Amino acid sequence: MQTTLLKGGRVIDPANGIDGIRDVLVKDGRIAAVGEVAGTPAAEGAEIIDCSGRLVLPGLIDTHSHVYQYVTGRFGLNPDMCGVHSGVTTLVDQGGASCMTLPGFRHYVAEPAESRVLAFLSAYLVGGLEGHFYPELYRPECADVDATVKSARANRDIVKGIKAHAELGGFARWGVDVMKKAARIGELTELPVYIHFGQLWPTPETGGRPVDPDSILTQVVDLLKPGDVLAHPFSRHPGGFVEQSGELHRLVKEAVAKGLKVDVGHGSHFSYKMAAKVLEAGVVPDTLGSDMHGYNTSVPAPAGTPDEHPDEEHLFAGTSRFSLVSAMVSLMALGLKLEQVVPMATSNAARLLGMSDQLGTLGVGREADISVLSDETGRWLLRDNEGTEVIAERMLQPLFCLRAGKRFDATAPILPVPKVA
Ligand SMILES: [Zn+2]
Repeated sequence: MQTTLLKGGRVIDPANGIDGIRDVLVKDGRIAAVGEVAGTPAAEGAEIIDCSGRLVLPGLIDTHSHVYQYVTGRFGLNPDMCGVHSGVTTLVDQGGASCMTLPGFRHYVAEPAESRVLAFLSAYLVGGLEGHFYPELYRPECADVDATVKSARANRDIVKGIKAHAELGGFARWGVDVMKKAARIGELTELPVYIHFGQLWPTPETGGRPVDPDSILTQVVDLLKPGDVLAHPFSRHPGGFVEQSGELHRLVKEAVAKGLKVDVGHGSHFSYKMAAKVLEAGVVPDTLGSDMHGYNTSVPAPAGTPDEHPDEEHLFAGTSRFSLVSAMVSLMALGLKLEQVVPMATSNAARLLGMSDQLGTLGVGREADISVLSDETGRWLLRDNEGTEVIAERMLQPLFCLRAGKRFDATAPILPVPKVA
């Protein structure tokens, strides 16, 4: 197989404590050397790719994707569009597949994809059909603990966690019962449970019980174990990290101290105002996650699927192109450093998946999953779906990635075009 030399880029490999100008040599799909390799016998005959001025990172890991294409209706995107063609080598589908539909996910999505595709298995029998569009499919009777545990255990190579929701519309319908089942699945499988916070379903028009959005985190944190993940800390929807009063929920820091993790799950509910509040209060996410799907990106909808999604109301046209890398740019515009954001999409994400021994670093001998990004300074305008504008003074864009040594250029049509301020 081909030998490739990525020459002279800024290599950031948090797990190995590397941040500096290095060459990376790739041979037979694996990392053969990191250091000053150009001109040495090891690099003889290698295809040389000049990476000077570029970032050379461990293959990026998107901890929150939706790529059960077609089976989840309009919701699931093409995995390689979000993955290797957006500079991302590993995708974690959040709850698209269930115990009933995981075989299809493996056969039709994970196996044919060029990107590495993993799954957080849905806690519900139906999985994430149309992005959980129909709340009645997600009531407690529609979760089967034993069947889900069996499926997760039998598919440990691709199932790396469990997906659930702690959500106002659901709590108004059924209280905490579904969350209890999800937590039980997490305990029995010893896998992390990834919990969506922030309202997704409308509250029921009749028969619902009154729920204080600020009580949701309180009810859920007690059920969780260290390593479980609280998602969407920066959501503009009620029921998340920011209380109705506008303050950080008093339990967030307690939860983090207890060993719970925080994943951004960017999506289109991402709010710069909420993010600023949470970050100012000293809560820094562990992992990133793009949360792109068919309702928040500009891709053609399959015929006959719903026109819009309750989670995505008020979506402004023009902000519907994004990627894991543009989510990194969002966080940097809020004041986080590149050196803080890179681990979120590499080493921290690998740890969340229990795959630090395989993913998230550029260690010699590892499979050569490598993401190469441009890194420029200037002034760009970013805008969230509340209309809040911020200025990014640093712009990262994916150029290409190597997935097990094979090159893919970043040509996805959903990659945003930076807007100069
Ligand atoms: Zn999502």
